[in-house]
Amino acid sequence: MYNITVIPGDGIGKEVMKATLSVLDALNLNLNYTFAEAGDECLEINGEPLPEKTIQLCKKSDACLFGAAGETAADVIVKLRQEMELFANLRPVKSYPGTNALFEDIDFMIVRENTEGLYKQDEEKYTENGAEAKRIITRQAESRICDYAFKYALKHGKSKVTGVHKANVLKKTDGLFKKIFYETAENYKDKGIDAEDFYVDATAMYLITQPKTFEVLVTTNLFGDILSDEGAGLVGGLGLIPSANIGENGALFEPVHGSAPDIAGKGIANPLAMLLSAVMMLNYLGETEEAENLDKSILKVLKESKNLTPDLNGNSTTDEMAEAVKIELLKLNKSYI
Ligand code: ATP
Repeated sequence: MYNITVIPGDGIGKEVMKATLSVLDALNLNLNYTFAEAGDECLEINGEPLPEKTIQLCKKSDACLFGAAGETAADVIVKLRQEMELFANLRPVKSYPGTNALFEDIDFMIVRENTEGLYKQDEEKYTENGAEAKRIITRQAESRICDYAFKYALKHGKSKVTGVHKANVLKKTDGLFKKIFYETAENYKDKGIDAEDFYVDATAMYLITQPKTFEVLVTTNLFGDILSDEGAGLVGGLGLIPSANIGENGALFEPVHGSAPDIAGKGIANPLAMLLSAVMMLNYLGETEEAENLDKSILKVLKESKNLTPDLNGNSTTDEMAEAVKIELLKLNKSYI
């Protein structure tokens, strides 16, 4: 049995979470869900966006599923990542059939440092003349993320890791990142993993002009956040990008999209980013067969293009699309319910 903390959160977070749990329930798994609160609605009800009870539940569970938080996202998800020491943020960018992907065969992973950089909120403050934010780069955190990226490449049969930075301008902080990146690369040279590095602005362009050349990208917090939304644009929108936040002692899986207030309550949010986050969770838990079946079923629904939400040019609802995934699962394995 796996203990899973479930935080539906706000807006479409609730809708895609409900749809995802209904699909997960069909699998041959014993998932014990504990629901927890966080986000804008939680702030309204409890006076705080991320109660200590939620943090403790997340820390105790085998894995967490998170939907979305609205205005309070920074106080919820950024804080949770720091509290749980979820240092690696994995954001796969993959083109699927039946979507608005700009290219076929895009398949790369963005490995984003999750705990420092410009996202240390306690280091941002107003000053006499305006405001300032501090960019924190530590040897420990950057070595850990670079090593994670190379290990990921090795484990998944990739041949190259690209380090992304702006070391020509941020000479000390990103200069250090680049140095650590190449020091780490040395340990993987004889294992067949090549290393290259690009400036972040050039990378933003290369993602459009030559996206198929990328396999694994590793970068600091803010750059990773921005490049992964660019990646979403490459493969047909935020409704398709899942993510994993991984630490030594815990993990949290969430779609890259937010609460999408413009479509919340309409029942038309694409559930796939959340469902694909669940696939990442199943792989993390070692349930690779169930993960593969879920992945295959999602692919089938996309290929057939009969049950797609409006963001994919269809007219199905969130629940109808999830139901279609369930039907494909049943075709793969009759013992699913
Ligand atoms: P938040 O403030 O919570 O981050 P947002 O609207 O600023 O919300 P997103 O929620 O990431 O940011 O949404 C950005 C755009 O992408 C919106 O137009 C939204 O409708 C669309 N979008 C995001 N997720 C989905 C989804 N799962 N299905 C369909 N459209 C989506």
